[in-house]
This record gives sequence, structure tokens and C-alpha cells, in this order.
Amino acid sequence: MPTTRFAPSPTGHLHLGHALSAVFAQRASEGGSFLVRIEDIDGTRCRPEFVGSILDDLAWLGLEWQTPVRVQSEHFDDYERAVALLDGEGLTYPCFCSRSDIRRATEAPHSGGEQVYPGTCRALEVAERQDRILSGAPYAIRLDMESARARVGTLTWTDRQLGKTTARPGQFGDIVIARKETPASYHLCVTVDDAIQGVELVTRGVDLAECTHVHRLLRALLGLPEPEYWHHPLLTDDKGKKLSKRDGDETLKAMRREGTTASSILNLLAAWL
Ligand code: GLU
Repeated sequence: MPTTRFAPSPTGHLHLGHALSAVFAQRASEGGSFLVRIEDIDGTRCRPEFVGSILDDLAWLGLEWQTPVRVQSEHFDDYERAVALLDGEGLTYPCFCSRSDIRRATEAPHSGGEQVYPGTCRALEVAERQDRILSGAPYAIRLDMESARARVGTLTWTDRQLGKTTARPGQFGDIVIARKETPASYHLCVTVDDAIQGVELVTRGVDLAECTHVHRLLRALLGLPEPEYWHHPLLTDDKGKKLSKRDGDETLKAMRREGTTASSILNLLAAWL
């Protein structure tokens, strides 16, 4: 009876793919604790009005979760503490590069299509860093990936679907763990929150499985207990393509308006699962 969670970002109304993730997480708890967490640290993309809509859709589906719902934007203190801990270990550095600086300096994108940071600011002298910070230059905080990996050695994580996997966080380079405007990153918040909330089985779509390489490393660096993972297949259309908002995949709200019942959605998801 593990503790599981569904962790949507309130950037829009829920779609069928979200419903699958939520139902999957709730079932995987096997009568243990099922939690909901609102991942709203990105103030440019998240909207408060979607939070109510998400909870309303989950309740309409018949899901029950433990309260209180953790809302990430209310917990920046927790993330700042984690950043300070990594900082104290000498595993971070300020990065003053803009996106275009990075584009210019980077030759090849990594497999996920995102550019791996070439490490430009890792080489800055301490005095230069201090001068730039004092001058008010905006900066992000990056993890010194090589030092971080050296600190913890080889790590593995276990997934109910994918089996035992060796963590390969190095492929992502010196990841951002905090930005000036958002003092935390997705990777850091998820890692800290899952530990604080006592999540024992992390369930989410297989499209996020790659992130687990980084989360495993952060767990080890922060001295947090390791959960089990279960990355589920994504809902696809009849051509095997992932359903996505961009393709006009309908929201649960729209399906509801058109007369679809919660039980027909649950039956459809049960058949898929
Ligand atoms: N907030 C993420 C999303 O909506 C999910 C993160 C996770 O489950 O780890 O895609």
C-alpha cells in the first residue's frame, strides 16, 4: 500500500492523458495514500484558475486524495534550503549566460532536443562571479554535474515497468536547479516534494522517465530516501501517436459538456491500462 501522487501543472484544463496518469497513480496506491500536488512554480505558464478546474475534474472522475493538496508555489523555502545544501557542498555555480549565449556556444543538442550547457560559467573566477552578482546581472544556479556524480558514484533506480536502470544524469550536463525569477527548477522541486510528502512509488508518464536520471542523483546528493518508480505508457491515437493538447485532444471539461460520463472515461482508461 504505497503512497503515490498525481502532480499536474496548472497550465490548462485536464485532458484524457492526465486522467490516465491520475487514475494510474490512484490505483497504484492499492488503497494506500493517494496525493495530489500542484506544480505551479512557473509563474509565466501556470494560472490559478486552472487549479480549481483540475481538482474539480479529479473529483468528477470519482478520485479521492488525501488533503492538504501541496501547492509548490507555497513552498519556495523548502527548495531554497535544498539549493543551499548543494551550494554548501560546493556543487553549484552561478551562470550568467542567456539562452542565446548558450545557443551560440553549443554545438550539438542532446537526445531530448535540449541543449546541453557547455559549462562556460563553471570556469569563472570567484571574484568575477562576485562582481557580476553585485552588479545585478541575472543568473541561474547550475549543478556542477561532474563533481556531483563523483560525489555519489554510480546510482541505479528501479521501475516496475522498466526494471533496474543505471542512472545516467551526465547526459544532461550542468542542469539549472534555480533561476533568479523562479528560485527552483522542476527537477529540484519534484525531488524535494516527493521526499517531503513521503511518496514511495513515483508514477508518471513514460515521457518523463528520462528525468528520473537527474532525480535519482539529486536524491542521493540531498540525502533523501529513494522511492520506487512506475512510468506508465502514454495514451495514443489509433496511429500510435501520443495524444496532445496541440492536436486538439479534448479537455475533460469539453467531454463532460458533450455528455460523456465519468464512468465511460474510467472504463476507457481501465481498458487501456
Ligand atoms: N508536473 C508534471 C507535468 O504536469 C509532472 C511531474 C511528475 O509527475 O514528476 O507534466
